[in-house]
Amino acid sequence: MGGKQMNHGAAAIAAIQEKLGGSSAEQVVEWALSTYGRRVAVACSFSMEDVILVHMAVRTGLPCRVVALDTGRLHEETLWVAAQVEQRWGLQMEWYFPDADDVEALVRQAGPFSFRNSLEERRRCCDIRKRRPLQRALADTPAWLTGLRREQGQTRSSLHVAQWDDGFGGLVKLNPLVDWSDQQVADCVAGNLLPTSLLYGEGFTSIGCAPCTRATRPGEHPRAGRWWWEDPSHGECGLHPLGGRK
Ligand code: SF4
Repeated sequence: MGGKQMNHGAAAIAAIQEKLGGSSAEQVVEWALSTYGRRVAVACSFSMEDVILVHMAVRTGLPCRVVALDTGRLHEETLWVAAQVEQRWGLQMEWYFPDADDVEALVRQAGPFSFRNSLEERRRCCDIRKRRPLQRALADTPAWLTGLRREQGQTRSSLHVAQWDDGFGGLVKLNPLVDWSDQQVADCVAGNLLPTSLLYGEGFTSIGCAPCTRATRPGEHPRAGRWWWEDPSHGECGLHPLGGRK
């Protein structure tokens, strides 16, 4: 991205942050959908936070795109939540899959568990199965909404409600739940009877691809079960380079 576009992005973010200062999560979602129209993307990985975002987006009554990535390695419980979300709100999820040729080449060359070998190989898998499909999902999109929160980990502590995301050609990234606590998330889920993964009841506190996620033990950081064999400071998969593991 050129410096001119980055400057333009930084200026746009400063204006948005000023405008949204003190706004509730619901107000941020409504502002995004009314400002950017149907091209804005609500990214849903079917975490509790992302289901809350979909819930808020639907409640605005405004048209929106809900985009989801099927990496080919998701838990069955995650796909169950996806089906519940689609059914509950009558949504047609905009699914994105990895390129079949890329996945075939990866698995033929490196095997089905190459991501355990090194950070480089793990990033290669995330690039093919997550980042590239998301790149297609966000093409020609002026803004996307994520369920990222500051409390989720050391790599997310500097998050803001609005950020410039230069990872996908340059677009606005909005994090309406950035200030939310674990308790607020739990209360919103319970109060609205939102569908959530059964894995949360089995000790999972952050859920990604099946082979790269484990339940956490009492006292562990909620995101310690993601790529647990790596140094926590490596915890990003290319979707949120400034924001941590997703
Ligand atoms: S989380 Fe694991 S299985 Fe999923 S894309 Fe990344 S490395 Fe591959």
